[in-house]
Amino acid sequence: MIRIETTQIGEDGYAVSGEVSGDLLDLAQDPVARSDGPIRYDLTVERAGQELVVRGQVEAALRLRCSRCAQFFSTTARVSSFLHAYEWAEHPEFLDVSADVREDLLLEIPGFPLCHGSCKGLCAQCGQDLNEGPCGCVPPEKGPSPWSALDQLIATPGPRPPKGGTGRGRK
Ligand SMILES: [Zn+2]
Ligand SMILES: [Zn+2]
Repeated sequence: MIRIETTQIGEDGYAVSGEVSGDLLDLAQDPVARSDGPIRYDLTVERAGQELVVRGQVEAALRLRCSRCAQFFSTTARVSSFLHAYEWAEHPEFLDVSADVREDLLLEIPGFPLCHGSCKGLCAQCGQDLNEGPCGCVPPEKGPSPWSALDQLIATPGPRPPKGGTGRGRK
């Protein structure tokens, strides 16, 4: 829990920073994201009329499952401008910002995480992780498509599979 003692807030505001367990994110059952370390926070609280304004930065180390190759990779979810206001009267002694920190961090998790932008994913036929090398599968016959030019751009130089024709150029 990220607890701010509201009795400590002076004219110049009050700064709190520290770490809490990544369990706060409650990702134990999540198939795609796991906590991978503590949540760090660096916040300031200021009075603004009847409100307490909390702003600052929070970040959490995560392991995410790549949506192409299904491998977990390490990343950091970072909220660089955490900003929430609370009714002062409702928090005469302390303010718990855990729920907002959790929510903001979860919003930073991409819907389709990628281990890296050029992840090649898995072969649709044999399931091999193509980042580790090409598999022996012959791609299904394709007619000319808008993608074929792109395929040639993407094709990486390297050891070629044994000659046998790629199917391209046949009439
Ligand atoms: Zn990947
Ligand atoms: Zn394959």
